[in-house]
This record gives sequence, structure tokens and C-alpha cells, in this order.
Amino acid sequence: MSEVILVLGASGQIGVELTQKLRDLYGNNNVIASDIREGNKNMMVSGPFEIVDATDKETILKIVKKYKVTQIYLLAAMLSATAEKYPQKAWDLNMNSLSAVLDIAKEKHIKQVYWPSSIAVFGPKTPKQNTPQNTVMQPSTVYGISKVAGEFWCNYYHEKYGVDVRSIRYPGVISWKSKPGGGTTDYAVDIFFNAIEKGTYECFLSEKTRLPMMYMDDAVNATIQLMQTDSKNVKNRTGYNLAAISFTPEEIASEIKKYIPEFTISYQPDFRQEIANSWPESIDDSEARKDWNWQHKFDLSTMTEDILKNLKK
Ligand code: NAD
Repeated sequence: MSEVILVLGASGQIGVELTQKLRDLYGNNNVIASDIREGNKNMMVSGPFEIVDATDKETILKIVKKYKVTQIYLLAAMLSATAEKYPQKAWDLNMNSLSAVLDIAKEKHIKQVYWPSSIAVFGPKTPKQNTPQNTVMQPSTVYGISKVAGEFWCNYYHEKYGVDVRSIRYPGVISWKSKPGGGTTDYAVDIFFNAIEKGTYECFLSEKTRLPMMYMDDAVNATIQLMQTDSKNVKNRTGYNLAAISFTPEEIASEIKKYIPEFTISYQPDFRQEIANSWPESIDDSEARKDWNWQHKFDLSTMTEDILKNLKK
């Protein structure tokens, strides 16, 4: 049977690209985009769009019934850097939206849920290199706390109520079609726009800050691959570690210089440095690779080439 998918928070950085890929795969009319604000033009015209507050269970349920939705992808959230400014709002949005969607699945209105976690579940006491799937999770940010709690809610609903919920701990996701929404890894997107438009960039993290990252194409493919795999392959119901590349601002700048030799970068670390310092440098994602055959395609050099080629157009 064909799926009908509702994407909550579809107008954000990941949502616009994931929605497009889902529409290509499942048919434009079978993927309902929704958000509290409109998304880019392409998303708005290529298929159905509804204004939905992801914390409002009744409205979500109305849309689920209207379109006979079978799967929900819940992308609405407040991200790490913004959440530090509005901790209570972040907690309310991140937790109440997940509760609403998990309850709708528990009540059997839908069959499957996708909810992204993050490398922010880890904290200063977590091993920084090759961070294992199961390790210390003591985050120092409200965003990280909401992701740890969310992961355990997902696992609880799976164990107690049989809810088929799946999750990935995304690293920093890098894109050029859509701009990021207030995370600590946003510099790795901003740097490309600034390199093309101004030839220079002031980075809010220090030059040696190494963080796990991933190109949007890989993140979108991983998400759909996890959702499409047979349920018996999904052995982890908290959140899968997922990795592709790890690099520092200095390293990405020197990669960009290969294409724009006059490009310059300066460093002015702000409050986001402390968040970055609490996160891993690299991630062990062998369980995702083993359980559902995850493989990344893009490394730092192929990603940089692809982004600059597209942005220059
Ligand atoms: P984003 O901030 O770009 O987009 C979030 C979207 O949610 C926005 O369009 C916003 O308008 C919408 N939204 C906010 N409040 C809402 C509400 N009450 N109801 C409905 N929509 C609402 O975020 P993103 O980067 O696309 O992230 C998507 C998910 O992936 C989030 O759960 C985030 O924590 C996770 N994640 C992202 C990254 C990354 O690098 N982008 C890394 C790790 C995890």
C-alpha cells in the first residue's frame, strides 16, 4: 500500500529538502507539508500544504484524518543555539510536539513516526572521538536534554505500546538550498554563502573546533532509508548514531580556497563555542551501517565542490 506522509516543520532547513525527496518517491499529493509558516516556493506549489502547530494534537489529528495519513515525520523543533536563549519555549515545543505525535501513533491513527534526534544528546563527559552508540549522555544544553528525553519517550512508546517510531542522531547538516534555523553547526552553511557573496567570512567558532557533519543529500537519504527498512532491522528505538565527515572551520575554509583562492576567514567565537565544546568530534555509526546498510556518499571535498557549483549557478 502506498504511504501518505505528513511532514510537521516542513518549511525548515531539513524539511524543504526531505519533503521534496518524499514527493519524488511517493507522489506529490501523498506528501502533505505543514508548518507554522510558509516554506519556499517550490514546496508550496509542488503539493499540499497546511498551517499546523506541531504541539496541537487535535489539529494534527484533523489533518491525519482529512488526508488518511499513514506516516508522520516530525521536524518541528527549536535548535541548539536558539534554545539556549529560550529554554522553556524550547522544552515546550520539542517535548509537546513529540508527545502529540506519539499519542496519535499509540491510538493507531498512523503506522509510523520519524523523529530526529541529534549529536546534542552527548555532553562534556562523553568520549569525544568515535563516540559510541551507547555511552554517557549528560548534555549541557536544553536542546540536548530535550533530545535525550525524546529518545527515551520514543523507546518507551515502542516497548509499551508497539509504536513504530524511528530516529537518527543527526550531526550538523549542511545544505545550500535552504538556510539553517539556529543551530551550532550553522557556520558550515553560512561560510559557503559568504564565500560566494562577499569573499570573506567571520566564523562564530574557533578554527580548531572539530564537529561531526553531513551533507543534506546524505541526511535525507539516510532518513528515508531508515523509514523504508523492514521493522525487524530497526534494533534501536532511541536514536541511531549517524556519521559522514568531521572537520574544523579551518579545514572547510582551506577546501573552499581551492575554488575561491581569494577567500578569507576570521574567527570570533561567541556563546556557541561552549555548546560546540560539549559535543563529540567524531561518531561511531557502525550500528546504523550494520542494521540497515547505511553508507554516506559525500566527503568534505565532494560536498564542497557540489555546493559551490550549485551556488555559483
Ligand atoms: P529548522 O529550524 O530549520 O526548521 C524547523 C521548522 O519547524 C521551522 O520551519 C519552523 O517554522 C517550524 N516550527 C517551529 N515551531 C513550530 C510549531 N509549533 N509547529 C510547527 N512547526 C514549527 O530545523 P531543521 O534544521 O530543519 O531541523 C529539523 C529537525 O532535525 C529538528 O528536530 C532538529 O532538532 C533536527 N536536527 C537538525 C540538525 C541540523 O543540522 N539541521 C542537526 C541535528 C538535528
